[in-house]
Amino acid sequence: MTAHLDPDTVEVLKHLCRCTEYLSDRAASAEAAGAGDTLEQLQQMIEAVRDCEAEIRGDSTAASVKPHPDNFVCAECGSAEIECLDWVRVNDGLFIGGNDVLSGDDYWCSECESHESPVAAKDYCAAHGHRGMPCMVCGTR
Ligand SMILES: [Zn+2]
Ligand SMILES: [Zn+2]
Repeated sequence: MTAHLDPDTVEVLKHLCRCTEYLSDRAASAEAAGAGDTLEQLQQMIEAVRDCEAEIRGDSTAASVKPHPDNFVCAECGSAEIECLDWVRVNDGLFIGGNDVLSGDDYWCSECESHESPVAAKDYCAAHGHRGMPCMVCGTR
């Protein structure tokens, strides 16, 4: 499952990627020139850019599903990070769809590893109670 990134985030990531390339180039010349201190500094900067990149990717993954009463959530743990098998054209990965006909086993919750069919967030909360304020499952304040 690939995280959905908004265009602004993609731009930032592209920029960070160019930073890493630039710093790597500089590091390579510093190494060739035997400038150990500069090389070390550049490597620390590359590390920092990579951390930044990982954080942005992580954050946008976490923010990809906003709580909503009509979301489908895991019947076991209430997570909206539920995944299902889907029809994709083999040769180019084009999304075809058709997950409305899936059997129960075709779902997967990355949080609790359940294969249960998902339920509507509002039904989950009706059965288990809200979680937090605002509710992490259905978003009710
Ligand atoms: Zn779950
Ligand atoms: Zn709720």
